[in-house]
Amino acid sequence: MKKKVKCEFCSNLVSKHYSALSRSKKRHGSVITCGCEKNNRLAKEFLTELRKPGNQFYLSFKQFVELKNSPCYYCSDAVSGNLGLITDIRGFFIENTVPLCNSCMLSEGDKTHDEFVEYLNRITENVNRKKFGLSL
Ligand SMILES: [Zn+2]
Ligand SMILES: [Zn+2]
Repeated sequence: MKKKVKCEFCSNLVSKHYSALSRSKKRHGSVITCGCEKNNRLAKEFLTELRKPGNQFYLSFKQFVELKNSPCYYCSDAVSGNLGLITDIRGFFIENTVPLCNSCMLSEGDKTHDEFVEYLNRITENVNRKKFGLSL
């Protein structure tokens, strides 16, 4: 028996067999596609994140695209392009995920959000102290 379902990426209707549906659900979350991700860079990236072993990935494609198109959380750089987490919980859900530019992602490295903010504060304080002789 066939069922009409919407493609996660372009909203095209796709006919799928029930058995195919449950199989694809098991393989990559609840994402059903018409195959259009081949020509859609963000859709491809989305599927890559979703399929990364051990990745706790709960964003919808819409949320994913919005985050990718938002300015960097730390420096407000217009083009972010990466996703970062703002708590120690290793899960990409909307309350926990922020957009990051390349240089902020590199600077953050393995640090947690709190460690990174602590590090940034330390740099700002040190530089100000050296530049302006401020005692903080
Ligand atoms: Zn599609
Ligand atoms: Zn940044």
